[in-house]
Amino acid sequence: MANSKYEYVKKFEMDDKLPACNWIIVRIDGHKFHQFSDDHDFDKPNDENALNLMNSCAVSMVEHFPDIVFAYGVSDEYSKILSLSVSYFTSLYVIKWKDFFPHKGLKETPCFDGRIVLYPRAKIVRDYLSWRQVDCHINNQYNTCFWMLVKSGKTKKEAQERLKGTLAKDKNELLFQQFGINYDKLPDIFKKGSCVYKDTVEETLKPDNGGNPVKRQRQRVTVGHFNIIDDRFWDEQPNILREN
Ligand code: ATP
Ligand code: ATP
Ligand code: MG
Ligand code: MG
Repeated sequence: MANSKYEYVKKFEMDDKLPACNWIIVRIDGHKFHQFSDDHDFDKPNDENALNLMNSCAVSMVEHFPDIVFAYGVSDEYSKILSLSVSYFTSLYVIKWKDFFPHKGLKETPCFDGRIVLYPRAKIVRDYLSWRQVDCHINNQYNTCFWMLVKSGKTKKEAQERLKGTLAKDKNELLFQQFGINYDKLPDIFKKGSCVYKDTVEETLKPDNGGNPVKRQRQRVTVGHFNIIDDRFWDEQPNILREN
């Protein structure tokens, strides 16, 4: 665009550089996935295939962008550290769709919104992730009750009324008494969401000529449904949020 009378339009562009020394969170969330999940008959409240599709996109993201150190996802939402990612995520979602839903065509055009938040300290990143995981648990508990009530014949409005004002223990009680479901026994992918991160593992290769075992450090991408609120996971993975 150099050297033309039109060049001035460049001046309207905002600086897209982020201030240094921050942890960068990119939150990616499916746009109108309430509708999208209805259009594609997702199991309610949790379609495991759809969650695994999201996780697979996250794994590819972590493999593709070396700066992403950790990703956490629930429902149609994925939070990532470091950016450049919403469109790549969307492309992955479309390309991988057939691997997770081989008998279900993609009928609508999925799109995701993304936002960036900067946190100056690892402690706040931990709190951010705790907030998302608490939200995952609260939503999942509510949605599990809601959809069990609907599947047992209540209208959506009746199910909503029934759940109004109930506390966590009331919901657990309702699931157990009425549907024989022990909430604690539900899969962790539903209750805790998904974590994706790079891990260094030590591989033992064939012994060398002298018969000594040869060890090599290898990076691999791990997917798990851990408790990321307590210290334990972070103590075991000190490299993820290391500050220097
Ligand atoms: P917005 O465009 O504002 O994000 P939305 O319709 O995507 O609106 P969210 O609050 O992001 O609303 O909620 C995502 C919705 O997508 C859930 O309420 C649920 O209905 C549906 N959904 C997403 N993933 C799954 C899944 N794996 N299984 C079942 N339903 C899902
Ligand atoms: P950035 O990630 O910063 O946008 P970029 O590599 O995409 O970097 P641009 O300045 O956006 O660089 O330029 C786009 C480049 O992509 C062009 O220089 C050209 O090499 C290539 N390109 C894009 N579209 C076409 C096309 N239709 N045919 C051939 N080459 C194309
Ligand atoms: Mg959404
Ligand atoms: Mg969402």
